[in-house]
Amino acid sequence: MADNSEICDVIVVGTGPAGISAAVNLKILGADFILFGHSSLSEKVERSELIRNYPGLPEVTGPELNRLFAEHLSAAGVEIRNENVVGIYDMGDYLSVLTDKRSVNAFSVIIASGVQSLKPAKGELEFLGRGVSYCATCDGELYRGKKIAVVCDSPALEHEAVYLSSLAGYMYYFPVMKETSVKESDTLRIAGGTVKEVSGGMKVQSVITSSGESIDVDGVFFLKRSVSPSALMFGLATDEDGHIVVSRDMSASVRGCFAAGDVTGRPYQLAKAAGEGNTAAHSALALAKQRREEQKLQKIERQNT
Ligand SMILES: Cc1cc2nc3c(=O)[nH]c(=O)nc-3n(C[C@H](O)[C@H](O)[C@H](O)COP(=O)(O)OP(=O)(O)OC[C@H]3O[C@@H](n4cnc5c(N)ncnc54)[C@H](O)[C@@H]3O)c2cc1C
Repeated sequence: MADNSEICDVIVVGTGPAGISAAVNLKILGADFILFGHSSLSEKVERSELIRNYPGLPEVTGPELNRLFAEHLSAAGVEIRNENVVGIYDMGDYLSVLTDKRSVNAFSVIIASGVQSLKPAKGELEFLGRGVSYCATCDGELYRGKKIAVVCDSPALEHEAVYLSSLAGYMYYFPVMKETSVKESDTLRIAGGTVKEVSGGMKVQSVITSSGESIDVDGVFFLKRSVSPSALMFGLATDEDGHIVVSRDMSASVRGCFAAGDVTGRPYQLAKAAGEGNTAAHSALALAKQRREEQKLQKIERQNT
């Protein structure tokens, strides 16, 4: 088991209104926490033309609200770790969070990752870890010289696509956004549409595109700003629409795991997200303190036996 000092109180996943609210409250509460997300904050907020239902701001544009969120984080002294979380693992007494750069432990985790812009392709979850990956830096090396498909839904993640193209023998690239900065080459084809289906046997063998084309590949990378909660954490209870099931204190079905914002279900609204982030922060920190004490007592008991 990891030493108490190597485990932080809370990890927050997501830099939308839910994650920001959780982080600001954790800071005020004096927690030892990490906020993982993107320095550009929430794409959804950025895309909102005019917001008229956020308390205290009768009329605010999305970009203006994102700017205010960034100012609030900076004034509170909260730092964003610009990293994508690719997996959360229940270690019994604590949780381990894997990003595209590192693995970190926490007594509680708040998932505030929003709802995904891309629905999982058929076979995507089934082949996760068997040819499907969400993490270029974790798994890219496995596909050196091989044929891969890469789906990307955000300009903020295109550097990962570029990295993969430097390793792959041949790459089919599916940018699912208005514009791409990636250029075609002898070993990179920019394909239209997206990957609709992943298929194979023990491992991925091919993908079917939205235009019905079948392409043989060794692996598929889905570079998404937000992956489905069940892909992020095994065993998390979700409803029929894939939202994380939570109690009133925002705790999810796995001990130590909390959720807030769109990821817990409708209505998809800013004020709901901020409110849930606030509740989750208080609940997650209370549990972290309890777990830290439990661990100390266990250590004393071990020393006395
Ligand atoms: C066009 C548009 C207009 C809207 N207008 C309104 C409105 O007028 N009023 C209103 O109340 N609501 C409005 N909404 C809805 C509102 O934007 C959302 O309800 C709100 O943004 C949800 O906040 P959230 O924090 O749950 O998720 P999001 O805002 O989606 O934020 C999720 C964050 O998590 C990050 N993230 C996701 N996965 C990971 C990962 N694995 N690792 C690290 N980070 C990750 C994302 O990058 C993002 O920063 C609008 C939405 C849209 C799209």
